[in-house]
Amino acid sequence: MKILAAVKRVVDYNVRIRVASDESGVETNGVKMSMNPFDEIAVEAGVQLKEAGIAAELVVVSIGPAACQETLKTALAMGADRALLVETEVEVQPLAAATAIKAIVEREAPDLVLLGKQAIDDDSNQTGQMLAALLDWPQGTFASGLNIADGKATVTREIDGGLETLLLTLPAVVSTDLRLNTPRYATLPNIMKAKKKPIERSTPEELGIDIRPRQKMLSVSEPPVRTGGVMVASAAELVDKLRNAAKVIP
Ligand code: AMP
Repeated sequence: MKILAAVKRVVDYNVRIRVASDESGVETNGVKMSMNPFDEIAVEAGVQLKEAGIAAELVVVSIGPAACQETLKTALAMGADRALLVETEVEVQPLAAATAIKAIVEREAPDLVLLGKQAIDDDSNQTGQMLAALLDWPQGTFASGLNIADGKATVTREIDGGLETLLLTLPAVVSTDLRLNTPRYATLPNIMKAKKKPIERSTPEELGIDIRPRQKMLSVSEPPVRTGGVMVASAAELVDKLRNAAKVIP
């Protein structure tokens, strides 16, 4: 069985996000970038399936600028076998990512595609669903449990008030939730070994796909700065202020 995992390079989750001064987006200049945390979970799931002898190969793919090779190297150091970079300087929106991953799926013919449930930069939560639709494959989103047996994937999903279990016929698309596993750290020997693993580069043009953005971001702005609180002496004063100053109750 062959697994393809999609890994996105995003602003590191520890970085305090700053909005660019012209409100055109989030500041990324000089900012630490890392693998999207949910994608680390997807890679870990793939590596665990390899270790269990269920998967024979784990291929990782990233769509974005040349710097995405760093993200792919992290995935290789975690245990992926080879990496693919679809190189573009254009902003990659979810439909573009899904289109590129579909083109890779057609070349690689994996039995399972693992993605993060969402990228923490755009918070779109769309790519996996769009990919499943484009491929016309079954999907299990927000997986907190994943078992593969007899050509089928059993996916557990945390839903309001309980757990939902889905049985998908492979090939399928699965997106990972936080509690699926705890991703391993890449050890130094594995980081060294990963340097020898191949990263194959292609372009959207070579894949024959159009990944130009379909939507335009008009502006990104900081939330309004919170003003200081006021101490009130009594419940009656609080009600008075809510009614007459804040005007939030009638
Ligand atoms: P999103 O729909 O943007 O929230 O992203 C969901 C998931 O799709 C991510 O966790 C990744 O696994 C995958 N993905 C999105 N964009 C990219 C990209 N540019 N390169 C690789 N994977 C991506």
